[in-house]
Amino acid sequence: MSRVYNFSAGPAVLPEEVLKEAQEEMLDYRGCGMSVMEMSHRSKMFDEIIQEAEADLRELLNIPSNYKVLFLQGGASLQFAQIPMNLMKNRVADYIVTGQWAKKAWQEAQKYGTANKIASSEDKTYSYIPDCSDLPISPDADYVYICENNTIYGTKYKTLPNTKGKLLVADVSSCFLSEPMDIEKYGIVYGGVQKNIGPAGMVISIVRDDLITDDVLPGTPTMMKFKTQADASSLYNTPNCYCIYICGKVFKWLKKMGGLSAMKERNEKKARILYDYLDSSNLFRGTVVKEDRSLMNVPFVTGSEELDAKFVKESKAAGFENLKGHRTVGGMRASIYNAMPLEGVEALVAFMKKFEEENV
Ligand SMILES: *Cc1c(COP(=O)(O)O)cnc(C)c1O
Repeated sequence: MSRVYNFSAGPAVLPEEVLKEAQEEMLDYRGCGMSVMEMSHRSKMFDEIIQEAEADLRELLNIPSNYKVLFLQGGASLQFAQIPMNLMKNRVADYIVTGQWAKKAWQEAQKYGTANKIASSEDKTYSYIPDCSDLPISPDADYVYICENNTIYGTKYKTLPNTKGKLLVADVSSCFLSEPMDIEKYGIVYGGVQKNIGPAGMVISIVRDDLITDDVLPGTPTMMKFKTQADASSLYNTPNCYCIYICGKVFKWLKKMGGLSAMKERNEKKARILYDYLDSSNLFRGTVVKEDRSLMNVPFVTGSEELDAKFVKESKAAGFENLKGHRTVGGMRASIYNAMPLEGVEALVAFMKKFEEENV
């Protein structure tokens, strides 16, 4: 068996240890004679899996007791609708548009009320985070929305926007659990798990409990009310049981790695190796303003489409998968999530140096 270095933006690399454990437990989960895929979501076995997953996540992120943890279906994209349906009481919200995911969320919110675009970096292909120290926050805004790490463009907020007292809602799909965060600064933090945590098809939403009410927009489906999911501890209907199980294993792995402060250090070290090389290279360069660089998604280009294509092709042949950049940025993108080992980044940089020598 040979595994590649997988730099995919998502679904993405998972810790090998976690995959092996899941493999061992595939046919007979801890002596119960069946796989987690085959067991009732109401069983004692599964109850332990979901409870432990939640407890470990709470410990990792230091989630205060007045926040609910919801394991939901529909991925991050369904939150684009679920958030306005539950929060837009005044039918006004402010969006900061720093990439395609933020734009999609902003567009979806327009179905439910006035969604103001109060800042954007679209003028420069989303290659920076706009100044958010003094934004034109709407007096009657129900919340201010950000996408904290922009998966496609490789930018990240280093300081949170000044929301002037308004509730902050953040999509953290591609930086979830990559470093510690202060949950209390947010009303809702959510992320699709297929970037940094587990298999696709699920979103974890961490919602402050005063935002979980019956007072939702008229016509909101039962399944889309946070209260329905919170009251049923994410078991209103059959959840994505296997995904919750794998996420739980990743939480245990993160704890074993030393928690989120240790992950931050590790991620900074990995990113530094790549960015330092990009800054010194005569061939490659990063596409993002230095101060706003993401630790997780690193887009880069050579400046020549032909050479970019050659690099993607040759890197693939050498065992580096999914380095092709998003079509709107072009070039390459290396996603170096938690589960990408340091050796993977070192090997990539060595390969890039060799490519540079051969092509400059
Ligand atoms: C991938 C991604 C999404 C979409 O996730 P789905 O689970 O496919 O809906 C949303 N936001 C961000 C920041 C992402 O990276």
